[in-house]
Amino acid sequence: MRVSQLITKTRKEAPADETAKNAQLLIRAGYVHKDAAGVYVWLPLGRKVLNNIIQIIRDEMDAIGGQEVVMSTLQRKEVWERTNRWDDEIVDVWFKTTYKNGTEAGLAWSHEEQMVDTFRQHIDSYKDLPKAAYQFQNKLRNETRAKSGIMRTREFIMKDMYSFARTEAEHKEFYDKVTAAYLRIFERLGIGESTYFTVASGGAFAEFSHEFQTICEAGEDVVYIDDEKHIAINEEVMRDDVLKNLGVQKDKLRKAKTAEVGNIFSFGTSKSEPYDFVYTDENGEQQFVVMGSYGIGPARVMGVIVEHMGDDQGIVWPTEIAPYQLHITSLGNDDAVIAEANKIYNNLISAGFSVIWDDRDVSAGEKFADADLMGMPYRVVVSKKTIDSEAYEVKVRKTGEVLQLNLDELKKLLAK
Ligand code: ATP
Ligand code: MG
Repeated sequence: MRVSQLITKTRKEAPADETAKNAQLLIRAGYVHKDAAGVYVWLPLGRKVLNNIIQIIRDEMDAIGGQEVVMSTLQRKEVWERTNRWDDEIVDVWFKTTYKNGTEAGLAWSHEEQMVDTFRQHIDSYKDLPKAAYQFQNKLRNETRAKSGIMRTREFIMKDMYSFARTEAEHKEFYDKVTAAYLRIFERLGIGESTYFTVASGGAFAEFSHEFQTICEAGEDVVYIDDEKHIAINEEVMRDDVLKNLGVQKDKLRKAKTAEVGNIFSFGTSKSEPYDFVYTDENGEQQFVVMGSYGIGPARVMGVIVEHMGDDQGIVWPTEIAPYQLHITSLGNDDAVIAEANKIYNNLISAGFSVIWDDRDVSAGEKFADADLMGMPYRVVVSKKTIDSEAYEVKVRKTGEVLQLNLDELKKLLAK
């Protein structure tokens, strides 16, 4: 991509009403557009990052046997009445609408009801189990707090997976696989070290759930971390029995502000019972299906990464999810410089690298500031000086380190 061809522009100032650092930087760098409080539009650069995050999650869900589906946004009232969750008094984030014939419909804030209603029509026998289905689908939630930029929005994509098992033991086995897959996901996203498997309250169905909490000043949660075990306890369940169960000592825990990037929990048979979602076991007896639910918010993860790794100059992307690996900054309008930049740009693209080239006719200062703001992992300068020296000046965005590399060495660095 050439910066001169991008449909977006960078800007010096974030909108006055935007208080969150993640959204300020993402708006200034042209990744997202703020449409309303809690409503953001994904621009090309932002869409690329989100797609990269989604692809990592998809890989890991497929690897443990998840099968991708897409549920609908329009949801039938009856599907929610079965679990008594249609009422606004019970679920306070509903957006609802009405068909022309007067029939009410809900705009999905979650999809577990519809998942159950769908798969009870495909799963009948013990031979059909265990199974798991997942999706990347919009959730619409009438959130009262929408002040954390893309970390808490009223419309967002969630990866939600639902598992169906014969027994608690079979369920637990899959639950543990998902836990391991989630830890791999956060590792691959570059936030493994600062993300903690966390014990949290279980809500209506179980005593505990598990969250994945990432260190983040702008987060809304408080957890207590055991550094040795690399696990945490949400303050909402910070109790002696929980400490004892986990085998951790209170005085060794470190308090931290975090953001919940993922949340997994067991339903037991609480979702299958209202739907009469049963399977026939080996003895011909009918049993309720045992279920689990596993969520991750790709956009919240992206916001947390911007908060967590960004600096005064702008965004710093981990290489795994950056929209482009390399930012080429050509300086000046000299024909030889343009030809040289063009040569490297095409050479790297044909070698399979993802590259953005700032080919605009603007000052060096503006180009450097924009490169830092946009946050690609590496920046290379092409100028009269570099043509003469045959080595390029490559800056590592994260550390500020400057390397002198020829084209082959640059390719090796990018291939890492
Ligand atoms: P929270 O506790 O932060 O309100 P939640 O418990 O309601 O979230 P879940 O329904 O468990 O969230 O959603 C699963 C995941 O979806 C969360 O871990 C988070 O990553 C993401 N998520 C939840 N709400 C939002 C939102 N409003 N905007 C963006 N991502 C969200
Ligand atoms: Mg939660």
